[in-house]
Amino acid sequence: MNVSKPLLNIKKIEKTRINQVDFNNLAFGKNYSDHMMYCDYVDGEWQTPQIVPYGPMEYAPSAKVFHYGQAVFEGMKAFKDDNGEVHLFRPEQNFERINKSSKRLAIPEFPKDFFFESLETLLQLDTDWIKAGQGNSLYIRPFVIATEEGVAASPSDQYRFMIITCPAQAYYSQPVKVIFAQEYSRSADGGVGYAKAAGNYGAQFYPTNLAKEKGYQQVIWTDAKSHNYLEEAGTMNIFFRIGDKLLTAPTNDRILDGVSRKSVIQLAKDNGIEIEIAPVEVKRIVEAARKGELKEIFGTGTAATIAKVIGFEHDGVYRDLPEVESPYSDFMKKSLQDIQYNRAEDKHGWLHKVS
Ligand SMILES: *Cc1c(COP(=O)(O)O)cnc(C)c1O
Repeated sequence: MNVSKPLLNIKKIEKTRINQVDFNNLAFGKNYSDHMMYCDYVDGEWQTPQIVPYGPMEYAPSAKVFHYGQAVFEGMKAFKDDNGEVHLFRPEQNFERINKSSKRLAIPEFPKDFFFESLETLLQLDTDWIKAGQGNSLYIRPFVIATEEGVAASPSDQYRFMIITCPAQAYYSQPVKVIFAQEYSRSADGGVGYAKAAGNYGAQFYPTNLAKEKGYQQVIWTDAKSHNYLEEAGTMNIFFRIGDKLLTAPTNDRILDGVSRKSVIQLAKDNGIEIEIAPVEVKRIVEAARKGELKEIFGTGTAATIAKVIGFEHDGVYRDLPEVESPYSDFMKKSLQDIQYNRAEDKHGWLHKVS
């Protein structure tokens, strides 16, 4: 007889909450699916993952996450195709990245079989929460928090890894106006900018609020040292189009290595779009805009897929971007979505079918 430990324990909901959700009017991140997963790290080991009904959990007020922000997260999506099959988009990238983030925050890495087994089980249990159709998806939020009691500023010896999911709709993101950062910074050399560390996001809220007061939805972060190079949008990577050429910054320890970014780079190469991956000088972008050569700016990230920028401010001067015919941003969005909804050939093996 096989007496090995089960790979996961499941406690199902008694009654689904799905009927309380208006799938035609979803506010992003407000409605969570029936089940969630958690897995505790105690005594130097990740214990058996637990799938349980979604709901509040109790933590000691002194749990280290509340005091020192020892926490990391991921963002990914599941898509249902027209045959009712569910697919994840490049999930191994998210798995590897959460462990890369964890390592930087001195959090123990999570086992791959636990991650995929519990994620796929969650998606199977809550498959009705994943709606087919253009723009619909299930947003997946894996995260890890430090749960040990004690306000000593040292790494926790207990953690909780969790996965929660929420239905998301076509994010008809309004085109955004942005401001290039000249005062505040998001990340620094040797810092944690490349990690999805919780504190990176909390620290952006204040400067982003200041930008909003001036009529800009987002800040485009520049390098902390000189503010001369455009790096990323804070939850999205950023692309510029000068003439017919795409430009984006190379990743480094200040910039998050986005899955959407690397997919857009690959799609550009596949489709003969010239792409330059090199530091993007603010001066060059401003100059191109002045000459009418700057055709597009767009952000890339899992939540919005592609977010178009319609204008930017730098040095107190606002510049509109022109309306271009067949923008790269539309092409990239459509190409990505066609793969995600399993409507186009998946040349690079990006889809991961959930069976
Ligand atoms: C998550 C994130 C992105 C986008 O990454 P994707 O893998 O494409 O979703 C870009 N920048 C930052 C800072 C992020 O946190």
